[in-house]
Amino acid sequence: MRIAIFGDIHANLEALEAVLVDASKQDVTDYVCMGDLVGYNADPGACVEKIRHMDCPTIKGNHDEDAAGTHSLENMNPVAATALQWTRNQLDEEQRLWLRRLRMVRQVSDFTVVHSTLDQPAHWNYVTNRFDAMANFSYQFTQVCFHGHTHVPRVYAKSDKVHEVPADAIRIEKNAKYFINVGSVGQPRDGDWRSCYAIYNTEEQEVVFRRVEYDIEATQAKILAAGLPPMLAERLAEGR
Ligand code: ZN
Repeated sequence: MRIAIFGDIHANLEALEAVLVDASKQDVTDYVCMGDLVGYNADPGACVEKIRHMDCPTIKGNHDEDAAGTHSLENMNPVAATALQWTRNQLDEEQRLWLRRLRMVRQVSDFTVVHSTLDQPAHWNYVTNRFDAMANFSYQFTQVCFHGHTHVPRVYAKSDKVHEVPADAIRIEKNAKYFINVGSVGQPRDGDWRSCYAIYNTEEQEVVFRRVEYDIEATQAKILAAGLPPMLAERLAEGR
């Protein structure tokens, strides 16, 4: 199998479509979605519909939970609260229910997927160093686990020690475990504006990261037309 592992789409329809076109050109056979379908950008409903119809294993991200929830936005920062309220208004009840029912963690084939971390999946912790990764490995019972949430592609390997491996093309070695962040389709934050996702080749035991250009100007124009905070359009170009 050649499995496209992609997430943190964040209502960026142009980016999602570009990634799916790229994946089909790479002879991908299966798809797994890592959550955060909505939030920040201007096409939440269309992105939810697209993933729902793909009917691929999909896990819940914190933005999916927030958008599908009804809790007060009072204590959030104002930019995030404005965008979240707008997103809630764009989704219909069926879409919210579908998001609400997504699972936090699941096993697909012989690997695990989680939006944030396996040690506390509902706490939405960020993995930014090998100590964060160590906490995850204690709860990782498959050799490979994919995640997202930071929007930065990053790979940690655990053999006798936990260490970081460059996130480009990696081989899954038999005596090690891997915790792999596949980056973000719709709002990359590693300084590169292009969409990021990974392809897991299960026969070759190889994971390859892909960067894909999309029509960023169309996405930015939709953000401004929707009356969303302009900084959400600016940050896309900066990849942060
Ligand atoms: Zn996200």
